[in-house]
Amino acid sequence: MKKVTLSFTIAFMMLSCQEESIKNNDENLTNNDEQSLANSFYGKTTNSNCHFEYEGANGPDNWSGICGNDWQDCGGHSQSPINIQTRNVVENDNLEDLEFNYSNSFTRIINNGHTIQFDYSSGSTLSVNNKTYELKQFHFHTSSEHTVNGISYPMEVHLVHRDNTTGLLAVIGVFFELSNNDNPLLANFMNDLPLNEGGIYNSNFNYNALGFLDYEDEIEEYYSYSGSLTTPPCSPIVSWFVVKNRVKISRKQLLQFEALMHQNNRPIQLLNGRNIFVPES
Ligand SMILES: [Zn+2]
Repeated sequence: MKKVTLSFTIAFMMLSCQEESIKNNDENLTNNDEQSLANSFYGKTTNSNCHFEYEGANGPDNWSGICGNDWQDCGGHSQSPINIQTRNVVENDNLEDLEFNYSNSFTRIINNGHTIQFDYSSGSTLSVNNKTYELKQFHFHTSSEHTVNGISYPMEVHLVHRDNTTGLLAVIGVFFELSNNDNPLLANFMNDLPLNEGGIYNSNFNYNALGFLDYEDEIEEYYSYSGSLTTPPCSPIVSWFVVKNRVKISRKQLLQFEALMHQNNRPIQLLNGRNIFVPES
């Protein structure tokens, strides 16, 4: 019994220390999780304390009703993710290349209980269709959230960008596929992923998230549609760009992410008449 109490105490102390490090370690820390980004768009100052999961009573089918009216958008008509049926995509000659102007970032990795999130240094941007968005964070889903012709991939990264004028978001989705080799960018962090909910890892190690795009700073081939955050509050404020090119991950790396995040992909949502666009070829 004593042992149990002691380990609880130690676990609590560790959590407290980690929380301490959030407050004290970095003056530039802003809250970049999806709920906070949605709140800032709607002028809300506090996050809901409601709890969501990926199965059971708090699972995706019930998200719209488990937080009063706060998460009702989860039952809306422009939700993400979706299945991309390639025979139905619409060519759009107004769609430009995605232009990335990413600088290196410090390393901050957060285990928020739903995903592994990397916060990104300020000043890295995505420009597309005369709009510029700043990269705030990226995070992962196992399996992929979007599917292409009904096919899912083992993992998907979401690079979350914000238009700092309007507060609207642009999210880049990139699929991972299995390879015999480690993903070289992720290989830098596999020993540093926080194991417990609330865990944070900070270091001065510098890297460039362009590694998820094979270090190409212009991307021509992608699917685009109007959608939402894929976690509560599911706000429909996202321009989605799912790139066609896939990146590699080894089975060992994938298993590590799966062990930490478990299954964290929201089921695909109805299109409800929305178009999925591709740039004119
Ligand atoms: Zn996501």
